[in-house]
Amino acid sequence: MSSQQPYSFFASVEKSFDRASKFTKWENGLLEQIKACNSIYSMRFPVKMDDGSIEVIEAYRVQHSQHKSPCKGGIRFSEEVNQDEVMALASLMTYKCAIVNVPFGGAKGGIKINPRKKSVYELEKITRRYTSELVKKNFIGPGIDVPAPDYGTGEREMAWIVDTYSSLKPGDIDAAGCVTGKPITQGGVRGRKEATGLGVFFGIREVLNMPDEMKKLGMSVGVEGKKIIVQGLGNVGYHCAKFFREHGAVVIAIAEYEGAIFKADGLHEEEVFQHRKATGSILNFPGATNLAKSGDALEMECDVLIPAALENVINGENAPNVKAKIIGEAANGPLTPEADEILAKKGILVVPDMYLNAGGVTVSYFEWLKNLSHVRYGRMEKRFTENMNGLMLEQIETLTDRKVTAKERKLIIHGAEEVDLVNSGLEETMIGATREIMEIWKSNPAIPDMRTAAYVCAINKVGTTYAELGIFP
Ligand code: NAD
Repeated sequence: MSSQQPYSFFASVEKSFDRASKFTKWENGLLEQIKACNSIYSMRFPVKMDDGSIEVIEAYRVQHSQHKSPCKGGIRFSEEVNQDEVMALASLMTYKCAIVNVPFGGAKGGIKINPRKKSVYELEKITRRYTSELVKKNFIGPGIDVPAPDYGTGEREMAWIVDTYSSLKPGDIDAAGCVTGKPITQGGVRGRKEATGLGVFFGIREVLNMPDEMKKLGMSVGVEGKKIIVQGLGNVGYHCAKFFREHGAVVIAIAEYEGAIFKADGLHEEEVFQHRKATGSILNFPGATNLAKSGDALEMECDVLIPAALENVINGENAPNVKAKIIGEAANGPLTPEADEILAKKGILVVPDMYLNAGGVTVSYFEWLKNLSHVRYGRMEKRFTENMNGLMLEQIETLTDRKVTAKERKLIIHGAEEVDLVNSGLEETMIGATREIMEIWKSNPAIPDMRTAAYVCAINKVGTTYAELGIFP
């Protein structure tokens, strides 16, 4: 529990749940079942370190809900890991998956280590041992529970997990589906890396395309020309900035932990990234102005502010100074409950993390489907589509007596590749979720904000599944 929070992380998720559940029709028993963490595996195991000493590792896997199978959620390597945090994150995964119609229950895993203080060999031993503990207790498998990367883990760890699982389950033809976020060579899917940033872009673009919402906020409709500020130039922030810039928005400021920079006519994320790589800092970027403090970027005037770094960055202290019209929560939990209240009073629209950053899990679902079908997306139909499109184009050219340019030809006949299909599925998902949550919000004037509407959306979907199973008629 942080010193700033009066209650634990899991208790605060339960509190948000209770607030939203008042706007649903479900009886108390069913609501209690939705809230509860179904299975909690708290484990300790010994690992011999490089210096010969033995360390007892503390680790967890929590399966919050099995209303849909398998369960799904990342594995975090951090010194802050504790059971309460893993339970809270597992519950949020249930709600996130429900909103974006990813047919999984929520789960989360955590290993209490600082990965930066471990050698690669030690990390591999810890990850493989953790995986075999999960196998022993039937806590992992393509139809049981499918982990993914989170803080401190990435493709490398997922590759170790799938390799360990496969060796313990010889002959399991679906073994690759035991984990997502894998390297492409180990069964990963193209488009996973940029998925969260792209999902944030699709979600915010949908809001910007809603005339009624824009009228209320005093903004013009559409992405074109919108002033964007991004906090955090990591995976999510970088891709958010990239997709907004590519669609005509202007990224006027970028903040990193060492400082923030401003450029009225727009920053190019790749140039800033290269500058930071070369100089070790985002500051002194050619043509840009350094802001006095990193946090100043959060208080500048802009259309859309995207916190894509850490939790609790907008809080009771700085929320009164925020001048953005929309906040897109790309990070998990970037706003404290106090900030939420202050921003709502100021009329700032907060697009909640619970669904806005669901691009990663959505594309993880596509990866899992790819693993179960044992074929790359687009492999069967790409060439066929291109041949058919080519024939149709020839007919049109003959009938209209007009030849398209080589560039136009390429665009028209292009058959979908894996990344095209993944991005298209993600776009459909994010547009659908945004509209659904907005409709819930608008349908009941008593629902105070979009975050509560997102919870209502999730509770209704999980509740319906239980009710249809006949458990709670
Ligand atoms: P990342 O580590 O790639 O990037 C985070 C960036 O934030 C880093 O560049 C870091 O230097 C910067 N940062 C750290 N402290 C900062 C500060 N005080 N001010 C400004 N910048 C600071 O992580 P990521 O994968 O981009 O994740 C970012 C957030 O998005 C996290 O909250 C994560 O939980 C959430 N998220 C990520 C994904 C995903 O697919 N990667 C999915 C859902 C949610």
